[in-house]
Amino acid sequence: MSDFINVSSALAQANHHHPAFKASAILSFDRTGEINTAAESVIHQAGLGNLLATWLLDNESVTLETLTSAMGEMCRQDLALGLGYCLTAFMAATNLAVAGNDEQKRTLAALLSDDRRIAIAYHELQAGNDLTAMTFKASKVEGGYLLSGCKEVVNNLARAHGLVLFADTGNDNPACRHSLFLLTQTELNQKGVSIERRFDTLGVRNCHISGIYFDRVFIADSCLIGEQGRAGEYALKAFQITRTLLPAISQFSARNGLEILTRFAQNRVLYGDNLFAIPVYRKELAEATADVWLAGEMASLLRHALQAFPQFANGYSSASKYFLPPLMKQAIKSMGSLIGARYYLMNDDFGMFEKLVRDFPVVSFGHAGSLVCQTSLVHMLPRLLAEKSQSDASSILTALNTSNTSWLSALRLSCSKSDPLLSLLPTLTARCRALFAQQAEWVSLLTDLEALKTQCFDSLQQDIYGAATRYCKLIAAISVLRNITATDSQDIHHALGFITLWRLTRPMCDPSANTYYLSAADTISHYLQDTDGDPLASLMFQPKANHSDNN
Ligand SMILES: Cc1cc2nc3c(=O)[nH]c(=O)nc-3n(C[C@H](O)[C@H](O)[C@H](O)COP(=O)(O)OP(=O)(O)OC[C@H]3O[C@@H](n4cnc5c(N)ncnc54)[C@H](O)[C@@H]3O)c2cc1C
Repeated sequence: MSDFINVSSALAQANHHHPAFKASAILSFDRTGEINTAAESVIHQAGLGNLLATWLLDNESVTLETLTSAMGEMCRQDLALGLGYCLTAFMAATNLAVAGNDEQKRTLAALLSDDRRIAIAYHELQAGNDLTAMTFKASKVEGGYLLSGCKEVVNNLARAHGLVLFADTGNDNPACRHSLFLLTQTELNQKGVSIERRFDTLGVRNCHISGIYFDRVFIADSCLIGEQGRAGEYALKAFQITRTLLPAISQFSARNGLEILTRFAQNRVLYGDNLFAIPVYRKELAEATADVWLAGEMASLLRHALQAFPQFANGYSSASKYFLPPLMKQAIKSMGSLIGARYYLMNDDFGMFEKLVRDFPVVSFGHAGSLVCQTSLVHMLPRLLAEKSQSDASSILTALNTSNTSWLSALRLSCSKSDPLLSLLPTLTARCRALFAQQAEWVSLLTDLEALKTQCFDSLQQDIYGAATRYCKLIAAISVLRNITATDSQDIHHALGFITLWRLTRPMCDPSANTYYLSAADTISHYLQDTDGDPLASLMFQPKANHSDNN
């Protein structure tokens, strides 16, 4: 296990010291659209391919925590590098984890360990997010299938040694019409397979996004993943893993943006001092910091919940993909305006920030758009909000902190009734009230949080999309309360907690005249002023091993 923890440490080291990870190198590859193969081989040497392979073969042996931090470090400086190296391979691997047989898993694991690229081809231009409208055909013939059609806007096709393919195998019932296949070089090198035009993209410019065309290409029955006609079900289960982990992984890139901004604010001297001397600047900087921190807290709560309560994961993962990418995108936008005109310059530090702004949207729309996930969440909301008379907060917190190894086989298409995360709210709010009993501002904020819960339930009938947003805010708030009621929380956590809860519960209420809010912002900016490196590195919630509760 320690070897795997070393993957993220090795990548963190590379981010700081390896020439292939220097801003000048990354920006040069971004300009030319070429792949940063030197950085890719560092990632391989660090063991990320082996880590993913090990997870695929035995998902109990690698925690989601370890996967997230390793892939997060890979993406920290360059999302395009991460997407190009293995994020789409990870998506492919989740399909195999859900439905592949042992031999298929071994095949894909060998490719991952061997530093090969793996593509996943779901998308067709005419169908977009509508999986049931995919028309790429896999027609059943003796001993196998004949593939005909085109997949477009797919990453890494030209260099893929493996491909997970979503294809129409025919059925009157649209839900049973599609199947998944695993293709390797044996199939991909056949006559009749051609790589189609490359798509130019605004961001992730050195990911090679193209199409692939199959003209009546035979593949054997053994390529079928799971059972014919069940691709929709497998995809929706695999999405529960990727929609939960990918926003968490991309939070490392947002943190890199915060690190660039913090360095800028420390070093930029105006009117005889650095930018922390400007009160309004401190406030805006603290708010952007709080939003990036919040994204990490909510992402880790949902990751823990995926393992602890997989029967709710369809709802949690939709909440993750709907709420987190826009939250981080907004924070990145604010950070850009704090860097000022320099963010528009394309050299080194500031060029890295400008690249982040261009790259980050792919987190929202790649692999099912945020709005699609909001719609999915809306469908599950009545079940999530179904109230149970009693719930034991301590055992829920214990379950979140305990590694559950059998979660993968427990994923479902439906979502169970009565969300255990939401049932933490009264207990965590009460603990927080006790912690800040003397602080009127906190007491009032917690009252507003309770009102948000009431509004969420009240809007379920009349405004279900609004209820979905309020539900996500409540889950975000619970992740904050979990952090600040932990035994080792300090003033900086409390300050981040106050600002995030204000922003979640009082979006229309301008805090500029609230002295408590401004002093929380000052606590955050003092912290930033003295940091070197990732400002949030030591502020994220850390589950205690075998710890039954946070308090
Ligand atoms: C850089 C990049 C790399 C990619 N790599 C791959 C890859 O490797 N493999 C692959 O298979 N695909 C890949 N894709 C495709 C990607 O996964 C998306 O599925 C695809 O872009 C479809 O998104 P769309 O916005 O065009 O969809 P559309 O379905 O055309 O959606 C249009 C708009 O309508 C909204 N919308 C659609 N349905 C709903 C709904 N039910 N409820 C509410 N709103 C809805 C969407 O959110 C969007 O805003 C990649 C795309 C990009 C840009």
